[in-house]
Amino acid sequence: MLFKTNVDLTALNTMAISSIAAKYCEVESLEQLKSAVISAQQQNLSIFILGGGSNVILPVIIEGLVIQIAIKGRKITKVNDHVADFQIGAGENWHELVLFSLSKGYRGLENLSLIPGTVGAAPIQNIGAYGVEVKDSLITVNVLDLESLEEISLHNKDLNLGYRSSLFKEKPGKYIVTSVTLRLDKETDLKTNYGDLTNRLQGNAFNECDVSNAVIEARNSKLPDYKVIPNAGSFFKNPIVSAEKLNTLTTQFPNIIHYPAANSKFKLAAGWLIQEAGWKGYSNKEVGVHKNQALVLINHNNGSGADILSLAKEIQKSVNDKFCVELEIESVFI
Ligand SMILES: Cc1cc2nc3c(=O)[nH]c(=O)nc-3n(C[C@H](O)[C@H](O)[C@H](O)COP(=O)(O)OP(=O)(O)OC[C@H]3O[C@@H](n4cnc5c(N)ncnc54)[C@H](O)[C@@H]3O)c2cc1C
Repeated sequence: MLFKTNVDLTALNTMAISSIAAKYCEVESLEQLKSAVISAQQQNLSIFILGGGSNVILPVIIEGLVIQIAIKGRKITKVNDHVADFQIGAGENWHELVLFSLSKGYRGLENLSLIPGTVGAAPIQNIGAYGVEVKDSLITVNVLDLESLEEISLHNKDLNLGYRSSLFKEKPGKYIVTSVTLRLDKETDLKTNYGDLTNRLQGNAFNECDVSNAVIEARNSKLPDYKVIPNAGSFFKNPIVSAEKLNTLTTQFPNIIHYPAANSKFKLAAGWLIQEAGWKGYSNKEVGVHKNQALVLINHNNGSGADILSLAKEIQKSVNDKFCVELEIESVFI
């Protein structure tokens, strides 16, 4: 397969980081993907998979091959009157899939409206929002195994899907997602008891489209538009702490924002920690922290991946100094 050389990726990542791919190709089918991988292996090129570029921090140059996944396709198989399996190509846009499923009357994805990126990237960090994660509806993920070069199907239970984590994050470079199958149900209960969704829907009879609209409204009111202010969404994960640690923290910081998490643990709002450490609205010459949402790092003036990393490290240090809590970066640094 022939690759393009020295391709500018600035417009292909939502942080608008200027980055050059030494080699680049876009693949629209499993066959093209296999052929690109084989060529890269023959030329000893390392491979980096790019979806919508909404969760990556790129270096100035990517030595190796960037494969952009553009595998399309939507197949619906009815399980019964109200349940269906949606098998969706990895290169489809996530939000368009959400709207498509709603247009067919299926519930399950409405809380995940407006998350940027591709369907194939959804299981990589088990995308989540408003109390729902993709793992709640995910049945299988078809992948190309980079060792055997065979397409295999991995089941939900094999994927270690957790809070912004998965098998794919544990074993980067082992699999490339080619399609995702989600089981959606027209009759399942809507989940509206999270954050400000309850307030936005209060008093009205609502359906899955109303929930989606409320999520879209809430997100638009809180998150900066990456096309105007380049960003990668929430930059850090919300830290998970023990009940004992939370107890110590609440004694010192009674207003600390926290939520119950799995296994009797608690999730701290990373945005609150960063804000209290004094970073909200901070800006240096190139990069900064959004003025309304401290969890979002922004690239306001041609910042590089190194500029973002250096700011992220300063934030991590000051949050650790103040609260003795480690902030883990959510975005993927290449
Ligand atoms: C404004 C904004 C809001 C956001 N809100 C949320 C949110 O609410 N919840 C949430 O969970 N995330 C959120 N994100 C993060 C991001 O949208 C998701 O992580 C999304 O799934 C990334 O998709 P992508 O196609 O852009 O992946 P990319 O950024 O291109 O890639 C991310 C990682 O996945 C890998 N990858 C991508 N495609 C494949 C594939 N087919 N096979 C194997 N590996 C692959 C890449 O190599 C990389 O490691 C937000 C981002 C932005 C900019």
